Amino acid sequence: MPLIVQKFGGSSVANPEKILRAARRAIRAQQEGNQVVMVVSAMGDTTDDLLELAAKITDRPPAREMDMLLSTGEQVSVALMAIAIHSLGHKALSLTGAQIGVKTDASYRKARIKSIETTRLRKSLDDGNIVIAAGFQGIDDDFNITTLGRGGSDTTAVALAAVLRADACEIYTDVDGVYTTDPRVVPEARRVGRIGYDEMLELASLGAGVMHSRSIEFGKKFDVPIHVRSSFTDQLGTMIVAEPERPDLPVSGAAITKDEARITVQGVIDRPGTSLEIFSRIAAKNISVDMIVQNIGQSGRADISFTVPQNELDTALEAVREAAKVVSAEGVTSDANVAKISVVGLGMAKQTGVAEKMFRSLADAGINIQMITTSEIKISVLVSRERAPEALRIVHHAFQLDTSPHAPREEPKARGESHAARENSRGDLAAAVVTRLQSMNMEELTIDDISLDSSQARVTISGVPDKPGIAAKVFEDVAAAGIFVDMIVQSHPSAAGAATLSFTVPQNQLSKSVEAARRIAQSLGCQQVTSSPIISKLSVSGVGLRTHVGVAIRMFKALSDAGVNVEMINTSEVRVNVVVDGAAGEKGLAQLQSAFADVLR
Ligand code: ADP
Ligand code: ASP
Ligand code: MG
Repeated sequence: MPLIVQKFGGSSVANPEKILRAARRAIRAQQEGNQVVMVVSAMGDTTDDLLELAAKITDRPPAREMDMLLSTGEQVSVALMAIAIHSLGHKALSLTGAQIGVKTDASYRKARIKSIETTRLRKSLDDGNIVIAAGFQGIDDDFNITTLGRGGSDTTAVALAAVLRADACEIYTDVDGVYTTDPRVVPEARRVGRIGYDEMLELASLGAGVMHSRSIEFGKKFDVPIHVRSSFTDQLGTMIVAEPERPDLPVSGAAITKDEARITVQGVIDRPGTSLEIFSRIAAKNISVDMIVQNIGQSGRADISFTVPQNELDTALEAVREAAKVVSAEGVTSDANVAKISVVGLGMAKQTGVAEKMFRSLADAGINIQMITTSEIKISVLVSRERAPEALRIVHHAFQLDTSPHAPREEPKARGESHAARENSRGDLAAAVVTRLQSMNMEELTIDDISLDSSQARVTISGVPDKPGIAAKVFEDVAAAGIFVDMIVQSHPSAAGAATLSFTVPQNQLSKSVEAARRIAQSLGCQQVTSSPIISKLSVSGVGLRTHVGVAIRMFKALSDAGVNVEMINTSEVRVNVVVDGAAGEKGLAQLQSAFADVLR
């Protein structure tokens, strides 16, 4: 019998009428011949209300007790859902995370799933029940209740779909699918018919709150197609699957991370081990860091800037201040009023002109770009929080995400068809997945590849004025010279108000690039242009690299142990790239291969 998982988010169970509506949907699915597992979130704003209640008592509640508190939200809704299904004359059984056997690690507030028991679930389903699982929660080895992080019910749902080898995983929410960007911020956003795991992973981790990013990691790792749709209509929704609808599109979505904060460690001595000292202390607090950029200064000292979630700024600052003492930094500054705007697209890796289009659109609106980082499939810029929603709209429009080429061309298939298709393709793949599920921690880090690219060179312009329009001008001129740029990083401006802008180009375009950079530097009044004729780009790719805070640290540690200095870095969900000196490439590669040997598949 086909098995489906249906997840209902907070707004879909916000009151008794909505609970009954969700109950009817599950009953309908059962009557159509499926076994049904429902995963439900806490009702409406319950989780926020519980957080607020605790905050009225103290601003430093123990994490363990917060999980005890927050998990009650989901316990209420599973019970009410079971009551609703009974009242409609059908069999249902509600289960908490502990009752199912959702085993997690012990990191309260952001626990990771290690394993899920299926015996009791299967038995209850075989007895004819609709099983209602509490989302967002589990237990650690000592039976303490843990929660998976805000939005974590999505992850419960996809993880259950994976262990049960479900035929469908349906995420019912208050939008009718995944849009090109948050439709609450940009009303012109359009629904996408089908999106790839990699793009969705990036979008989710860059702020597209429609899905918890870790749920997409599960989808990708365990081959679970995810169907996002409205709980209030019968619209077709969006399929999140391996193959995107338009792999050729340079940009398929845009996202905003509203609540970011920037930290800068000023005047550190630029030598191996400095970054490790700083980031390992932050990682020890389980805080994930993004947009790491160095401003290579004069006289061997550099500024290191990066972003953290705003609500973790204070904790991160404590760690950074300790590290700053150890590395004899000149100071630490921070800004709690910034936001990150990102564009994501698989096609951008093979096309030119994407970055400058983004920078130009912001420049024309007079929006200052405070930092830039790029990776193969995304470009992120840091702007002031105040102008961030406007920046998102502008960028969304610049890539014409609001017009027709992005309208869904392919509509999600109905459940029955996808069941048949999956039945056919199951065989070996299913067996392989099941073996993998039994042999590992479900959310364990997995690395697919470690590689070295020694074909590029680096150009750095320093003393770049801190005002709107500079990055746009630089990359328009570079593009006009026919140069293909790969990585771009722009540091946060130094205390004196000037930033460093570095980019990588193919080695045979270096002299042309340096010439162009010199012309640009002169016309914009920058200080100087430096370059490196051969650099080595070392890349580690896998799944969920940013949520595993330890990945960048392992890289820093392995390289620093070998005395290799990291010149540039960028992180994405599927890949971390570091640029090191050209001569250190092979040594760096060997170091990384041994550092990740235990998780390389
Ligand atoms: P639920 O309670 O069902 O889990 P969420 O509030 O977590 O719902 O997620 C749905 C919301 O995500 C939407 O109302 C929308 O505002 C927001 N959102 C952000 N980015 C996107 C996007 N790219 N596509 C669709 N919705 C998005
Ligand atoms: N109730 C939790 C939250 O609000 C989990 C979820 O809804 O996914 O974050
Ligand atoms: Mg959600």
